[in-house]
Amino acid sequence: MKLAIIGSQGSGKGTQSGYICVEYDVTPISTGDMLRDHVRRGTGLGRVAEDYMKTGELVPDHIIIELIREKLPSCDNRFLFDGFPRNVSQAEQLAGITSLDKVISIVLPREVAIQRLSGRYTSEDGIRIYNINSATDRLKLNIEYGEGGVVVAVYERETGNELLQRQDDTPKGIERRLEIFNNATKPVIDSYRHVLVEVDGSPKPEEVFAQIKQELDALKW
Ligand code: AMP
Repeated sequence: MKLAIIGSQGSGKGTQSGYICVEYDVTPISTGDMLRDHVRRGTGLGRVAEDYMKTGELVPDHIIIELIREKLPSCDNRFLFDGFPRNVSQAEQLAGITSLDKVISIVLPREVAIQRLSGRYTSEDGIRIYNINSATDRLKLNIEYGEGGVVVAVYERETGNELLQRQDDTPKGIERRLEIFNNATKPVIDSYRHVLVEVDGSPKPEEVFAQIKQELDALKW
C-alpha cells in the first residue's frame, strides 16, 4: 500500500494521516515532521531548512528527495506520504524512485483553511494539535485572554503545559503557504488523476476519515 495525502495547510491532512496509518498499518512519512525534527536537533540540514520554513517557502527539492530516499527502504512498501510531493519536480523525481497506488486529496475552501490555521496550537513535540476556534477542543484547553480579547496564552488542561503556535502560522506565513499550495502543489494533484481519491475536508475529522476509508476499503490490496 503506497499512499500519499495532499491537502492545503489546515485541511486536516496531518490528522487524517494519523488515522490512515493506524487503520491500514502503513508508516507515515511526513516531510514537514522530518524537517521540524532536524530543526529541533539543530542539524546542518535543519539550519538550512529553518530559514525556508519560517517564511512558509518550500525547502529545496534535493534536500526533500534525500530525506525520502533515506526513509523509504525501512518502510517495506507500506507508507503514506504526508506533505510530499509538494511540486511537479518532486513528483517527477519520486516517479523515478517508486510509484503510488492512491493519492488522497483533501479539498477545503481557502477561508476555512485560514480560520483553522490561525487558531492552531500544538504541544511542544507538535504531536497533539488543538484549535481554539473548535468548541470541542476548547473543553480541553485553558485560554488566557489579554486586552481586547486577544489570546495571550493557551494551556493544555490535562498536562497544564503551555501550547505553542507553529512558527509559520502567522498571517503572512499562512498566506504564503496557501499561495504555494495553489501554484505549486495543485498541479501535482492533476498529475495523479489516474490514482486520485478526492474527499471533502469540511466535516468533522471522523466524517472525513469515513470518506477516505470507504475509498480505500473498496480497493483490493
Ligand atoms: P508541513 O508540516 O507539511 O506544513 O510543512 C512545513 C514546512 O516544511 C513547509 O512550509 C515547507 O517549508 C517545508 N516542507 C515540508 N514538506 C516539504 C516538501 N515536500 N517540499 C518542500 N518543503 C517542504
